[in-house]
Amino acid sequence: MKITAIKTYLMHAAPPETGGWSARNWLFVKVETDEGIYGIGEASGWPRVVETAIHDMTPLMIGEEPFHIEKLWNKMQVAIMGHGMTGIVGGGAMTGIEMALWDIKGKALGQPVWNLLGGKMRDKVRIYAHAHEKERARELLDRGYNAIKTGGIKNCVESVEAIRKEVGPEIDLMVDVHGPPWLTTRDAIALGRALEDYDLLFYEDPVAPENIEAIARVSDAVDIPIAAGERHAGIWGVKELIEREIIDVVQPDTGRAGGLSQMKKIAAMAEAHYCSMAPHDGSLGPVAEMAAVHLMATLPNFLILEHLEDDVPQRYEVMTGQPEIVDGHIIVPDTPGLGIDIVEEAIAKYPSSGNIGIPDDSYDYQYIQARQGRALWLSEQETPPPEYRPGQIF
Ligand SMILES: [Mg+2]
Repeated sequence: MKITAIKTYLMHAAPPETGGWSARNWLFVKVETDEGIYGIGEASGWPRVVETAIHDMTPLMIGEEPFHIEKLWNKMQVAIMGHGMTGIVGGGAMTGIEMALWDIKGKALGQPVWNLLGGKMRDKVRIYAHAHEKERARELLDRGYNAIKTGGIKNCVESVEAIRKEVGPEIDLMVDVHGPPWLTTRDAIALGRALEDYDLLFYEDPVAPENIEAIARVSDAVDIPIAAGERHAGIWGVKELIEREIIDVVQPDTGRAGGLSQMKKIAAMAEAHYCSMAPHDGSLGPVAEMAAVHLMATLPNFLILEHLEDDVPQRYEVMTGQPEIVDGHIIVPDTPGLGIDIVEEAIAKYPSSGNIGIPDDSYDYQYIQARQGRALWLSEQETPPPEYRPGQIF
């Protein structure tokens, strides 16, 4: 079997005019072969740029045998080294192609991808959904979820407190600060300490990922499991976080971590350090999610998978083989390959748009001082906080 073509499908994946989130795009990849079998993958990591990277790499892949996944991954890695360190663009491009190769192999052998990756540890993969208000948290519980993530800085402690009171002690709660570049490390520590009383499953991206010493400081100072890794690519991207035991939960993004083989290797590194894996999925479409389900089915140290409950309607239009969700879990499918296909006509209805975040006007891009930061997340505590004025130094 030989690879004959690689095609890409870029689409807009958010409601129009919805602020910063409206820039989300999904990029799907189809690798075709001379035997009529094709594989589907998904790539993130700046989808429009990654699409160009995939087109650049396509000539390398034409004529190659798609089963030799490790060899082809290394061929791509060597081919792009002149562009500098492998970041999320290179990681995304390699991911989209590599994921499709696993799909081809599974279809050709009549086996689900989880069986090629080591076999099943579990028949269903636990997922969590997102809530910022207690009413939404209650709704998710009623749908069968028993793990909920909230996020952001503003009124964070109050939101967590309200949700914890609503859902009770048995439900897993997580907080994602999304590592904004303007948040100081000391503020991230203060927020983490304020969250210690709420029995969180993890405290995610407390600081921006570029400075590893900052997250190490948070990890040393805060008594909550620390999660990070969604903005890194490859085994080298998270190596130090894992080997220095800075994080307790590693969160590779299944669309840009480098591919399923890279994620399996990251999981093995993490396992050696008693660190679990909870892949990021927030910016991803349904193909990468299903690929994550196959891989997570095989891992001893899988923790939980992010899932966008109530995502845009096009999520359910653009892929066949939708996930079967039962009581807060995705059932691991038995169909060969990834068990999915893309619907090209549906994708064509949503032309690519945006592709970078557009923060709304109330967003503060500047570094904030500790008292000001605490004013944001403790706004109804006993001591009234100073009035929040962007950019002002107290
Ligand atoms: Mg996150």
